[in-house]
Amino acid sequence: MKIICIGRNYTAHIEELANERPVEPVVFIKPDSSVLPKEQDFYIPEFSNDVHYEVEVLVKIKKVGKHIDSKFAPNYYDELGLGIDFTARDLQSKLKEKGLPWEKAKGFDGATVIGEWVNKTEFNDINNINFQLTKNEEVVQKGNTSFMLWKIDELISYVSTFFTLKKGDVIFTGTPAGVGKIVPNDYLTGVLEDQQLFTVKIK
Ligand code: ZN
Repeated sequence: MKIICIGRNYTAHIEELANERPVEPVVFIKPDSSVLPKEQDFYIPEFSNDVHYEVEVLVKIKKVGKHIDSKFAPNYYDELGLGIDFTARDLQSKLKEKGLPWEKAKGFDGATVIGEWVNKTEFNDINNINFQLTKNEEVVQKGNTSFMLWKIDELISYVSTFFTLKKGDVIFTGTPAGVGKIVPNDYLTGVLEDQQLFTVKIK
């Protein structure tokens, strides 16, 4: 299983990191070893003093596909979810400066939280889903899929022109504004519409 992540898919988050607005989606991959096992705490790795949360809407691919036209993309998924793309921002900034790949900053063990899945039929419109992340009971990130620069079906189409999508692959669709640092004893909770899909304790 692979984890395909989209960067810079919400305007406000592009601005907060002073990134350029992309002309095509920014795509990177996290290894399956980065998935935090369910019910496990997240341990801040030794190599970073600035790990950030990034809450993102997820799509689970249900069958093999490549060069998928966006109008057929809905045939390739039944379930949506919510997760965290943990990012060692200090390390990522250093790598970005040098034009080097980001993998170490985003693909380390535990850096991928995948919450419970929800059937897409539970949503009236997948391009109008609210989601939020709370840290210690306070809302720190709030988003709606309508604000994506590239919508879910367009992302599936785009990434499938480069990578064959396989059953079980997960797409992280990008984070809205409000990313921030975590410290030990923080407690993160992710909510998609009215359903809580994950909680993570930071150690
Ligand atoms: Zn991300």
